Amino acid sequence: MPAPPPHLFHPDAAGSYRRAMGAAVDHLVDHLAGTAGRPLTGATPREAAERVAAVDLDHPLGEGAEALAELSRLWLDDAIWFHEPSAAAHLNCPVVMPALMAEVFISGVNPSLDTFDQSAGATFIERHLVDWTAGRIGYDGAADGIFTTGGTQSNLQALLLARGQQVAPLERLRILASGDGHFSVQKAARMLGLDDEAVVPVRVDRSRRMDPAALSAALADTVAAGGVPMAVVATAGTTDFGAIDPLPEVAALAKAYGAWFHVDAAYGGGLLVSPRRRGWLEGIELSDSVAVDYHKTWFQPVSCSALLVRDGSTLGHVTWHADYLNPKDSAHPNQVDKSLQTTRRFEALKLWMTLRVMGADAIGEHLDTVIDLADAVGAELTAMPDIDVAAAPQLSTIVFRHRPDGLDEAALARHNAAIRAELFDQGRALVAATRVDGRAYLKLTLLNPIATLDDILGVVAMVRAEGERRLAAPAPRPRVERLAVAR
Ligand SMILES: *Cc1c(COP(=O)(O)O)cnc(C)c1O
Repeated sequence: MPAPPPHLFHPDAAGSYRRAMGAAVDHLVDHLAGTAGRPLTGATPREAAERVAAVDLDHPLGEGAEALAELSRLWLDDAIWFHEPSAAAHLNCPVVMPALMAEVFISGVNPSLDTFDQSAGATFIERHLVDWTAGRIGYDGAADGIFTTGGTQSNLQALLLARGQQVAPLERLRILASGDGHFSVQKAARMLGLDDEAVVPVRVDRSRRMDPAALSAALADTVAAGGVPMAVVATAGTTDFGAIDPLPEVAALAKAYGAWFHVDAAYGGGLLVSPRRRGWLEGIELSDSVAVDYHKTWFQPVSCSALLVRDGSTLGHVTWHADYLNPKDSAHPNQVDKSLQTTRRFEALKLWMTLRVMGADAIGEHLDTVIDLADAVGAELTAMPDIDVAAAPQLSTIVFRHRPDGLDEAALARHNAAIRAELFDQGRALVAATRVDGRAYLKLTLLNPIATLDDILGVVAMVRAEGERRLAAPAPRPRVERLAVAR
């Protein structure tokens, strides 16, 4: 046999493989060393776009260090680093090492989880994790589920199953969800052929949890108007406030109206392994389906997520038998029957390695740590006279804003937007923005278990200092020198 081409993963290319992987790992480690204290450089979209656009994809760079050096210029020099405590904007988590080991096997072996004859034992690793997660939810042996690309896909599939259980015509179907629920519910409704109006927002209470009395009224109104409540979506951890809707009450109402009860636990799903706070999810076992994002509060690399269903047979709503892949009479098990995807990456291995190396408690303790931190930060911020905290932290977010005296709502919105932009441009901190009942706020999302109270108060101090500076001299300050990356 002729020698394999050097770029092909192959037993005879083990040396090339080791060199390539070693070079990539060394390169990444060099970048990590250069990031200390800076989560980003503040490179502008324009700079990034221009550098990328200048690349001629028809001229490859070959084996040497050139391709990696180019990658640094185009991306890594200005990447956003989620292990930095001052990267506190979105639900991106720092990732755990066993999951990174898993990535080596996922991409090297490159199985596809649609059928057993493309995945072998991987099919059963995924199934075991599905069963285990279902057990943590409190479902019984009839439960099943599937790994997905994220909460968006899980919510879509859950609502597709809910629709499959319905006989009423499409135009009468309604989905009830908290007004603070995730927008992927609206998107899913659209993809299912429902109107935007088919998603009925339910009022939240002062702690931003769905108000059961409001849900009860909304269900009654829906039916009175000729609508059919196809699904009630409770959120276990809203994206902005981390609010967990009152699951037992919502479950009872969904049941009374014959609606599918879906729990969007994309964010709060990590509580399933929390040693101290599992009780917060009480009632989740009453659901028909649950979305869990392991790539948020389980510290897994993107993407790693699942949809779990109480009655596995409902997954049949997405089954299609293809002669070439999963015929009815196939002797082999397959997962494609349960998935919206066909070719599908073995993301489950990341969670598997994490559980086998660290264990579930260690993951849950990381989550408990960031919830403790958010509590402590919330308490400190509440005591600051020029800081307005929108609601007490519930999971690991703090929604707040700089509120000096004398600014009206419109000015406050501009003021806080400018602070956030300035911290980004200076590459000092990554803070999110949101709106609460029409008012502009900033948001910290804490997911870094090694971030300290001082780290996060340091970010708040930057917000206040920038706010004060703006009040004194509203012009933007000159840009700081770019961080030079040691290499
Ligand atoms: C993040 C999130 C989603 C969407 O999940 P993706 O993994 O980003 O697709 C859905 N619901 C809630 C509550 C979320 O926080």
